[in-house]
Amino acid sequence: MNHVSSTEQIVYLNGHFMPMADSTISTQDRGFLFGDGVYEVIPVYNRQLFSFKEHLQRLKNSLNAVQIQNPLSDSEWLTLLNTLIEKHPWKDQYIYLQVTRGVQIQRDHLPAEDLTPTIYAYTNPLKPVASHILENGIKVITLEDIRWLRCDIKAITLLPNVMMKLAAKAQGADDAILVSREGLITEGTASNAFMVKDGTIFTPPNSNKLLPGITRQVIERIAKAHGIPLIEQDITEAMLNKADEIWLSSSTKEALPVTTLNNQPVGTGKPSIIWQKINRFYHQYKQDFIQNNVIP
Ligand code: PLP
Repeated sequence: MNHVSSTEQIVYLNGHFMPMADSTISTQDRGFLFGDGVYEVIPVYNRQLFSFKEHLQRLKNSLNAVQIQNPLSDSEWLTLLNTLIEKHPWKDQYIYLQVTRGVQIQRDHLPAEDLTPTIYAYTNPLKPVASHILENGIKVITLEDIRWLRCDIKAITLLPNVMMKLAAKAQGADDAILVSREGLITEGTASNAFMVKDGTIFTPPNSNKLLPGITRQVIERIAKAHGIPLIEQDITEAMLNKADEIWLSSSTKEALPVTTLNNQPVGTGKPSIIWQKINRFYHQYKQDFIQNNVIP
């Protein structure tokens, strides 16, 4: 089964599993009124949560940063997510989970103290990136990063990301790589950014300007294990323009080659050798995870 309707798809909302079509929240939810909440996206391979520890830790960091109490224990999160996986037929899935500060009848920027967080989670089939995209890469433009200074929090408030994605589309591109007010590359609209120069991989260091991506972390681990040099370093737009390779990374897209930057070919204009290696090692890493049933 590849496609299920919202009446068949089961979601988790505030302690209960139910058909998506029946899942409703209050109009006074602070997530709806203020975008006051955080989220996670977790891939599932062969019905097992991938990099669960890391995703759970990032969720806790996000909750902590915005002062929402973590509503569940680690084992409760694990049970919730595994139950959601069990209720769906797909081997590979990706889970979206969201925690908002909860319902507050009197709209006020200042949160009331006694709110109960709203917990929502659902799952989707996770399909591999289409082979023609992996063969040809994607088109990206650079855009000024118009977001706030806490991009390390995985906040549901994604209006700037939506606007930048629309701007990229309007210019005929698939996505955008964002440039901070200081002229440094931060990340993609929903991904981390990498470039390769003379055989070395570069990615911006974690900071308040970008999300500490879990896929990025896995790529760093893989590069280290295979002796491919990877340096966390500030990347200027001028450096990016001279890159041999550029990639984006995320849980659902893995390492995605960028072959056109601002209408110019990147390197050879085709996905190149370091990306090919990392992509191959990434798939091996997933395969090992699936076979060994270990949580990497
Ligand atoms: N940066 C942003 C802004 C994102 O939205 C995402 C994922 O959605 C990432 C980076 C990549 O994070 P991860 O590899 O954990 O999916």
